[in-house]
Amino acid sequence: MVLAQLGGSISRALQQMSNATIIDEKVLNECLNEITRALLQADVQFKLVRDMSTNIKKIVNLEDLAAGHNKRRIIQQAVYNELCKILDPGKPAFTLKKGKPSVVMFVGLQGSGKTTTCTKYAYHHQKRGWKPALVCADTFRAGAFDQLKQNATKAKIPFYGSYTESDPVKIAVDGVETFKKENCDLIIVDTSGRHKQEAALFEEMRQVSVAAKPDLVIFVMDSSIGQAAFDQAQAFRQSVAVGAVIITKMDGHAKGGGALSAVAATKSPIIFIGTGEHMDEFEVFDVKPFVSRLLG
Ligand code: GDP
Repeated sequence: MVLAQLGGSISRALQQMSNATIIDEKVLNECLNEITRALLQADVQFKLVRDMSTNIKKIVNLEDLAAGHNKRRIIQQAVYNELCKILDPGKPAFTLKKGKPSVVMFVGLQGSGKTTTCTKYAYHHQKRGWKPALVCADTFRAGAFDQLKQNATKAKIPFYGSYTESDPVKIAVDGVETFKKENCDLIIVDTSGRHKQEAALFEEMRQVSVAAKPDLVIFVMDSSIGQAAFDQAQAFRQSVAVGAVIITKMDGHAKGGGALSAVAATKSPIIFIGTGEHMDEFEVFDVKPFVSRLLG
């Protein structure tokens, strides 16, 4: 499992600190250095790591802690809280209402798993009584519509797209209108994958967003993206109003920490993680259980 190594390293650092006879400045610093190293090795953004370490030192002011205080517990709790803080933007994702038509737009880099995730997201909600539909507004990548069509057919989800229309804005608008008429309550719009450098594609994504008026924009990010994650996520957020993040390929061997930095870059919560290629390999993401599991 991705990040298992990171969790192991942090737990070991905390254990070593716990084993020390006296917890003084030196022991705390050693522990924090170990944790910092582990987070950076896992590709968590440098600034987030530095802030976390500074915050813990502030919270755990050893000189002010009267004798009798359980310093070990206080340090462990501070590490747990700060890890949660990295992953918690402080506001929940916009809640969609079953039975009311909502439009959700998916954005992300090409190859991030966006199209696969659109179907997983639709399937997840379909199983819970929603009436989802998929719109392929990716006119950039050859085969994108076929892929979405195949996935949608497998999951028995209605879909919309075109082999001849080259304007993604028109497809998005037509698709949304069609499914609103059919009383679908979760209309999912898949867009072309793009890179930070591709200004024209970013502009196209912005136009799709303006025309389709999504209630929620979900940013999909591959867990293996590494240190580039923060800048990429921020570039998306600057073009469209990202409201939630989904991290894919958490089943792989990637370090994973980079993608976690997307929360800070987009100021949006991670709502799901992808854990495989299949439709049902998709889990709801909750910060506290995730961090508890990470620390073992
Ligand atoms: P897009 O270009 O962003 O639309 O990416 P695709 O949806 O085409 O996915 C790219 C590749 O990643 C495909 O081979 C998917 O099967 C694979 N993929 C997507 N999500 C996951 C995941 O959570 N785990 C694994 N192992 N593979 C995934």
